[in-house]
Amino acid sequence: MVSAIRIQVPEKANYIIKTLTAAGFEAYAVGGCVRDSLLGRKPQDWDITTSARPEQVKALFARTVDTGIQHGTVTVMLDREGFEVTTYRIDGKYEDSRHPREVVFTPSLEEDLKRRDFTINAMAYNEEKGLVDLYGGINDIRQGVIRCVGDPGQRFGEDALRILRAIRFSAQLGYRLDESTKEAIKRLAPSLENISAERIQAELVKLMVSPHPDYLREAYKCGVTKVFFPEFDRAMETEQNHPHHCYSVGEHTLHSLLEIEPDRVLRLTMLLHDIGKPAALVKDENGITHFQGHAQIGAEMARTILRRLRFDNDTVNRVCTLVMYHDYGNTAEPDIRALRRAVNRIGQEAFPGLFLVKRADILAQSGYMRQEKLEKLDRWQQLYRELTEKRQCVSLKTLAVTGSDLIGLGMRPGKELGSTLNRLLEQVLDVPERNTREYLLAEARKWLSEERE
Ligand code: ATP
Ligand code: MG
Repeated sequence: MVSAIRIQVPEKANYIIKTLTAAGFEAYAVGGCVRDSLLGRKPQDWDITTSARPEQVKALFARTVDTGIQHGTVTVMLDREGFEVTTYRIDGKYEDSRHPREVVFTPSLEEDLKRRDFTINAMAYNEEKGLVDLYGGINDIRQGVIRCVGDPGQRFGEDALRILRAIRFSAQLGYRLDESTKEAIKRLAPSLENISAERIQAELVKLMVSPHPDYLREAYKCGVTKVFFPEFDRAMETEQNHPHHCYSVGEHTLHSLLEIEPDRVLRLTMLLHDIGKPAALVKDENGITHFQGHAQIGAEMARTILRRLRFDNDTVNRVCTLVMYHDYGNTAEPDIRALRRAVNRIGQEAFPGLFLVKRADILAQSGYMRQEKLEKLDRWQQLYRELTEKRQCVSLKTLAVTGSDLIGLGMRPGKELGSTLNRLLEQVLDVPERNTREYLLAEARKWLSEERE
């Protein structure tokens, strides 16, 4: 039970533990920080579990915040840093596989560890007692296994979010699911329906930015994606018969996730880039599959899906733009004038990301013409570099004249002024050298006098 394994607890967390024990209570670092330390990963935050009641914790520290006092959690502030200190507790009966109706404090560390989801998350540590591992967490770390503490069916029944957490932790750590844990996931997957979109979103994002985002395959196989992301199931079940492809839409998607950096927006984009394909599918007389218009359909579907999962507007917009244009420029020859127009339409913010998306997409397709596709992409990217290095104007923001310049020429504010600015921008998109006050004002004057005639 108590072992010789040592963990480096940071000074402040240690100070909190020591202060609590000096006052006669038990206190340990617990959960994620213990797991991550054992794995040699840097813990994000140090949570502390203690036999002291919230009032007793508050009495021992100068500055505390009642973050979740009804659940026994007090945040202790040391300088600017906060540490969550939670009283040992048993979660009472659960309602709707969601929230414990009541929490009951307990004097027993064993009880507190027992309520935690997985063995690797159910270990506690302090300098005096060493590692407390009552449910085989170390062993499961050694074996690379995600296993529920206690009976998996019961544990998922209490809180269905744990179903998605199991898959998320397996993707973060590259672990497999213990067989009986997996069995219970398959059986209880439909109960995820009771979980709020916000909690699902948080787990999905962690899964997506993990080293193994393709473990979403496991969620599909266990019937988990069906509950909150049925569009993905359709993608998994849509074959692609085309020389450019060697996988189903869903498998291509999973592979593409591995070809892009673990950025939230970029990973979500890969996840959704071909989500419109099942709806766009047409098979020709030779049995070849075509998906014309899938990017646009996909962008609309991505919006629906991301909204349903309560993503913020900025994320929704950024992802949908990238989905919409992920095939842009694939057929055309690289051309800087066309590129300026594209940057103007798509928006410069989307750009460096769009190239990464396109590259990941190619790398997850069949080897057929891969070199040609990558070279073409390189040429587009080279042109983009030229455009930014020369600071070529691609939007009204950097146009050499503004609305007030046109008002100075006698135009009235309003719609017409806007469309004149856009006509001037068109001129500049064609020939960047035209972006001077002299040229553009002369053009505008000419148009004005033509109108007056
Ligand atoms: P990370 O913060 O890296 O996502 P973590 O293990 O710290 O991982 P948290 O969600 O911060 O996860 O939770 C802290 C600890 O609380 C967990 O390690 C686990 O012991 C417990 N825990 C969290 N959520 C649940 C849950 N839904 N059911 C049971 N125990 C949970
Ligand atoms: Mg945590």
